[in-house]
Amino acid sequence: KMARQFFVGGNFKMNGVKESITSIVKNLNAAKLDSTTEVVISPPALYLTLTRELADPKIGVAAQNVFDKPNGAFTGEISVEQLADSNINWVVIGHSERRVILKETDEFIARKTKAAIEGGLSVIFCIGETLEEREANKTIDVVTRQLNAAAKELSKEQWDKVVIAYEPVWAIGTGKVATTEQAQEVHAAIRQWLGASVSAEAQANVRIIYGGSVSEKNCRELAQKEDVDGFLVGGASLKPAFVDIINARI
Ligand code: PEP
Repeated sequence: KMARQFFVGGNFKMNGVKESITSIVKNLNAAKLDSTTEVVISPPALYLTLTRELADPKIGVAAQNVFDKPNGAFTGEISVEQLADSNINWVVIGHSERRVILKETDEFIARKTKAAIEGGLSVIFCIGETLEEREANKTIDVVTRQLNAAAKELSKEQWDKVVIAYEPVWAIGTGKVATTEQAQEVHAAIRQWLGASVSAEAQANVRIIYGGSVSEKNCRELAQKEDVDGFLVGGASLKPAFVDIINARI
């Protein structure tokens, strides 16, 4: 675990306007952040360049989505090249809100991940089960299916550009955080999958972060778990408490 740099992402979702996003970024710039934690924030697409210009260079910026084709007649979409050209080096792919509300498939998400990495971006690759799937004991099957789709597209080396975000759908935006044991159990299974399906290097080095109602109150206990390498934070990333989550290990 020591070898893996702790990673905290902030997903603003469809929240904020120029004024509020400017104030969030300025607060982060001024805060004392654990220098050993990698921090990446993800504002709505319209504010990516504003955020990149304002944020301290040590803070990464991620798009919340990208398209899998390089260019062309795809009204409303944004390409990998356009993100890279705007100095946006990260992208969140496969967030459950896009899987569930926008009906994105495992295969589409895997193709976007491939396109992003080929175009030089790093990817926060989101997976996770619904409440129904958990109650039917299908959690590991579901995350394995989601990971296998990506493994079909990516070369083994390309996994070093991936951070896996395990986000149980029932915990996202609900205030219902997974227990530390529930998170660790799935993270350990994902790490085992990396060893079996990708490589020993990926098993040792790929960060697996937890998302789903992470707060300044529950982050410290989660951060201590062997296979929890950080967090993807939604609601709390809009608040000053985000700094406490970034600093969960100090
Ligand atoms: C998310 O959007 O990735 C997320 C985990 O949301 P929240 O922290 O609000 O549950």
